[in-house]
Formats: sequence, structure tokens, C-alpha cells
Amino acid sequence: MEIQTPLIPLQEIKDAVTQKHAIRLFVLRLDLNHELISGNKLVKLKYNLIEAKRQGKDTLLTFGGAFSNHIAAAAAAGKEYGFKTIGVIRGEQYPELNPTLKFADSNGMHLHYVTREAYRTKTTPEFIDSLRQKFGDFYLVPEGGSNDLAIKGCKEITSDIPIDFDVICSACGTGATFSGIVLSLKNHQRGIGFQILKGENYLQTEVNRWISKFSDPSLHNYYVNESFHFGGYAKVNLELYRFVRHFELENNVPLDYCYTGKMMFGIYKLIQSGYFEKGKTIVAVHTGGLQGNEGFKWMN
Ligand SMILES: *Cc1c(COP(=O)(O)O)cnc(C)c1O
Repeated sequence: MEIQTPLIPLQEIKDAVTQKHAIRLFVLRLDLNHELISGNKLVKLKYNLIEAKRQGKDTLLTFGGAFSNHIAAAAAAGKEYGFKTIGVIRGEQYPELNPTLKFADSNGMHLHYVTREAYRTKTTPEFIDSLRQKFGDFYLVPEGGSNDLAIKGCKEITSDIPIDFDVICSACGTGATFSGIVLSLKNHQRGIGFQILKGENYLQTEVNRWISKFSDPSLHNYYVNESFHFGGYAKVNLELYRFVRHFELENNVPLDYCYTGKMMFGIYKLIQSGYFEKGKTIVAVHTGGLQGNEGFKWMN
């Protein structure tokens, strides 16, 4: 099986801030890698889909919250590449499906709701056995799609960048995408991961763990920024909202409020504070997530 993706555009952002601080800023538009399965979730699924086919599995089972970009991507990927899909969804079922779950359902995903308590046990052998008893054999993709094969896919993200750059930035949930990116960097390049969930040090620990699984973390130049999560996942204030709207209008790049909006906000704050030396070239990875904007409107 082959998974084809188009050439990923690198879009330069030239505005008052980048010009004032003499920074070259580019956005790697991974959000344009697929019409439906856009962004890092397709990259993370790629080698998992190939492996599932190789193992002869016909069903993918995975986990996520009711607004999960990964659930949406897994459903569409299953449909496109010929797998049945089961989504184990955290929390209760509501009478009306939200836009994410509606999309998953319309792509043929079977939605299986579990309580928050049960969801917390989702990686235990007992829980997974109970799912096998219920649904038969499946290829398991963890929450967020984060596993070794996801890292393998994410190591390829930088190969689409046709220029030399100094710094690469990415929004982080589990940190798998950022870890894959960091593992692919050259010696003079540096990664900054923007944490979008609340919690001190959890992400740095996760990223160190992923990187030490495949390499020696001391060989890699990276840093996790915890300053721009705005209080946690899907938390937004007026300042962030205004920044995102302004950025979108000025640069014609859509952002989402959960991930890429916070990363870009953080990048601009760092540029404005003089954090980057003049003349540096920064690439911001647009990890997609735009389907979440529908859910965001639904939630608020
Ligand atoms: C899931 C997601 C991320 C985070 O990816 P991780 O590999 O879990 O860190 C970042 N951006 C978007 C848009 C996402 O959907």
C-alpha cells in the first residue's frame, strides 16, 4: 500500500512584526496535505495504515475525545484506505452528534462511548481484551495516533522543507509530532514545541522520553515552551481570538484555536520580545486541526 501526499507548500509571512525584527518566518502548510485528513494526523497515521495492511487487519480501533482531530482523521483514513473503523469515545453520548463525531460517523466509524473512568484505563490489557471480545480482531492505534510508527512519519515532515532554516516550531499535545521533527533536525537547527495543554513539565518529560527511545536527547537541540497554553486545551481568551483573526486576514492562513493559533501567538510574542536573533529563519509547522474550529463554535 502507498500513501501519496502532495508537495507541501512553504508560505512566507511578511508583515510588520517579522520585518521590524528582521525575521524570516515561513509556515509549512501541512494543513493542505489532504482535503479531509489534513495535517499531522495523516502523517502520524501513514505508517500505521501501512502496517495494519501488512498484518492483514481489516479494522482500526482508536481512542479520542468528542472533538478529537485524530478521531476525524482516523475515520476518513479508514474510509479512504479500506478499513473499518471503531472510535472509542471518552464520555457520554449526546442526542445530537457534534461536527467532529458527525464527520466520523458519516465516514463509517462505529462510535463506542465509554465513561471517563473507563477511558482512563484504556491502555490496560484488561480493557483492550474487553474491546477484542466485543469487536473481534483490530489494529490498535493509540490516542492521538501517537506511537513509534507515528514518530517515523513525523521524521519525514522536515524533508518537505526546501530551504535551510534555524528554528522549527510545532504545537504539541502528546509531543509525538514535535519529537519526530526534532529527531530529523541537523546540528545547527533547533526545535521549539508549544505546549497547548495545562500541566507543568509533563510535555518536556514526554518529549525527552520519545527522543531517548530513538536517539540520545543530549544530541538534540530543542525546548518546550509552556507559556502559551491559555489555561489548557480549547481555552481561548479575547487576546488570542483577536490575534488569530488578525493573522488569518493579514496572511491568508487559517489557524485553529486549540493548537496552531496558540503556537503562532507564542511565536509572535517571542519575536516581539527579541528572543530570536535578527536574520534568523523560522519555520512554523501548520499541523492542521481546522475541523476543530467547527467543534469550537459548537462548544462555545
Ligand atoms: C493533534 C494535534 C497536534 C498535537 O500533536 P501531538 O503529536 O499529539 O503532539 C498539534 N496540532 C494539531 C492541529 C493537532 O490536531
